Amino acid sequence: MQKRKYFERNDSNHLSIFSKLHTHKNRAISFLGEWHTHPESNPIPSPLDKKEWQQIKKHNTEPLIFCILGTESTYFSVYK
Ligand SMILES: [Zn+2]
Repeated sequence: MQKRKYFERNDSNHLSIFSKLHTHKNRAISFLGEWHTHPESNPIPSPLDKKEWQQIKKHNTEPLIFCILGTESTYFSVYK
């Protein structure tokens, strides 16, 4: 079904949440990365995913892990 492959990103709050954590400079909180789900077997990052990951990485000097959980496998990417 074509429709199953179509999805809308509904986690646009991630960047704002990250920005708040970053602003507070709370040393008890270590940002490791981001994860979300895709309704596909073997997920690949969308152009929007990559754009957002690069934005997040700009605000963080530590390596970050980004994951996309699919229905059969999980995509991992590390930004150094
Ligand atoms: Zn995605």
